[in-house]
Amino acid sequence: MTHTKIGFIGLGIMGKPMAKNLVKAGYDLVVYDLNPQPVAELVAMGASEGSSPKDVAARTDTVILMLPNSPDVEAVMLGENGVLEGARSNLLVIDMSSIAPIVSQKMAKVAAEKGVRFMDAPVSGGEPAAIEGKLSIMVGADKKDFEEALPILEKMGNNIVLIGKVGSGNTAKLANQIMVAGNIAAMAEAFVLATKAGVDPWRLYKAVRGGLAGSNVLDAKAPLVMEGNFQPGFRIALHIKDLTNVLNTAQAMGVETPVTDLALKMMRHLDANGQGGLDHGGLIRYYEEQAGVEVRGQKE
Ligand code: NAD
Repeated sequence: MTHTKIGFIGLGIMGKPMAKNLVKAGYDLVVYDLNPQPVAELVAMGASEGSSPKDVAARTDTVILMLPNSPDVEAVMLGENGVLEGARSNLLVIDMSSIAPIVSQKMAKVAAEKGVRFMDAPVSGGEPAAIEGKLSIMVGADKKDFEEALPILEKMGNNIVLIGKVGSGNTAKLANQIMVAGNIAAMAEAFVLATKAGVDPWRLYKAVRGGLAGSNVLDAKAPLVMEGNFQPGFRIALHIKDLTNVLNTAQAMGVETPVTDLALKMMRHLDANGQGGLDHGGLIRYYEEQAGVEVRGQKE
């Protein structure tokens, strides 16, 4: 079965460019978001507007979700005028939101009772990769559903891995978010210490980026920090959501997560002080405020 009619629900920082790439690839899209602005942008490109998740599901063969968190996915799937109310039998729902793995499993179970297939396919790479269609996509699905979804996913990402059964995509995403938070925190700690000690941060960056301390996180975040650019990107508030999902998952399994605990503490402090809307590179503000120094500088 080839899917040409795709529903897309959630056109935020990530969903909007992902949906645009599907339109550019020639797919017929029916889109829906609570915010009318990105809907209008997609309609201007040739997509049609859905009036509710139910309407989107009734008009399509595949529905993609790109929503903030587990309660949003539950509301869109199970709520009044939700996807399951409009879904035809055998609809494939690809949930690309980063949510709790246990909720993905619950969604798959409830959907299956209505003859609807559900898979989790969260992403990594951020807004630039979403725009370029170069996301990493971690999939939890039956192999058959994965193979069916692959041509669609390939229009949005270039590193697509079937991790295992439903829920395992989001488990991989939680692991990803632990590593990203730990990297950002270590980078922030190092740059604040060096700057306070009188080292030029750009020179530090140039010196370390090719060595063992170099990383995608360093290359993505250090230049923005030094420009004082904390525009999201990936909001601290969303990273708090992911790390909270890490803690809940870890607790259920009796696993200790000291790095996550610390990163979460710093992010919550910033959020409580009105900085949850900053990019997660803004975690450095926690260190900067404590040390009384700002890691800024001109590229030489
Ligand atoms: P966002 O807040 O920018 O976008 C979410 C969109 O969902 C908004 O447009 C909002 O209006 C819409 N929405 C919320 N509830 C809705 C509902 N009930 N019905 C219809 N629309 C609804 O978030 P984002 O940055 O695009 O992130 C989306 C998901 O992708 C999150 O799970 C996030 O953790 C994950 N993610 C984000 C990034 C990033 O860099 N921003 C990277 C990787 C993964």
